[in-house]
Amino acid sequence: MALKLADYKTDVHNDWCPGCGDFGIVNALQMALAEMGIKRDKATIFSGIGCSGKTSHFINTYGVHTLHGRVLTFAQGGKLANPEMTVVAVGGDGDGLGIGAGHFVAAGRRNVDMTYIIFDNGVYGLTKGQASPTLKLGEKTKSLPSPNTNYNVNPIGLAVASGFTFVARGYSYDVRHLKDLIIKAVKHKGLSFLDVLQPCPTYNDINTRDWYAGVDLAKESIERHSRIYKLEETHYDPVVHYAEESEVNEKLSQALIKSLEWGNKIPTGVFYQNEIISPYETRITDKIPNYLENPPTKQKISENGLPTTDVSEILDSLQV
Ligand code: SF4
Repeated sequence: MALKLADYKTDVHNDWCPGCGDFGIVNALQMALAEMGIKRDKATIFSGIGCSGKTSHFINTYGVHTLHGRVLTFAQGGKLANPEMTVVAVGGDGDGLGIGAGHFVAAGRRNVDMTYIIFDNGVYGLTKGQASPTLKLGEKTKSLPSPNTNYNVNPIGLAVASGFTFVARGYSYDVRHLKDLIIKAVKHKGLSFLDVLQPCPTYNDINTRDWYAGVDLAKESIERHSRIYKLEETHYDPVVHYAEESEVNEKLSQALIKSLEWGNKIPTGVFYQNEIISPYETRITDKIPNYLENPPTKQKISENGLPTTDVSEILDSLQV
């Protein structure tokens, strides 16, 4: 029986603030799962710590609410244990690009076939709005006593530099476009990164829904237009088509240059996609030839009530 959007919803009480962009991201993820027809026992949502960490409670699949900055380690482990599982990791920009930045870079280099979505709002919402890694230098949200003294991390640029093979940006109030991006990310063979711009109306009074809609531009005598635009509506081609170094370098460079656009024009859509680089799962079959047919979740862990792995030798070696 085909599953519907409602099948992916849970009745867990949601206490996100009214107007929070998180709602749009969760809706887009539920819509994407329904449209792809992914069975609920074939998908796992891993979440980090923060407001967005609650996402795994709101989606009716398997869910793992993990540790701060460590969501990618859990998610990669889950995917490698069971390569048939659709794995989506989610977390905030503070979680993934602050404490989790080392794991972000390491995951990019590995290219496990899964998706990572960052809820990007420029603040640590759950702990009352401190400046997070994506808040720009000199910006002062209503939750800060003085302007931010640090330069911001560029999530798209860092993902491209780290080796993610699918890099895209969405906007939480354009739910249909975000749903389409999530579907592309999940279908991509390799590690996908999706930076989702997400207003936090409670603590970030700079990057608000009105700001993204360009409401303030008229006050500056600039013709009003939405700051958000879609790369696919321009002549931008993010895809690496041939295994030629010159083309790869050209596509990486254009993605990096696009990632610097901000202010009155903010690109969304796919910045970079390279399916020529093999995912980690197929790369390790050189060392573990039967890994894909016999991954850890298919292996027998006990027989006749006894564990199949004898760890006595290891335990003996550790005895002091
Ligand atoms: Fe959303 Fe901000 Fe409220 Fe957290 S604090 S639920 S990010 S509006």
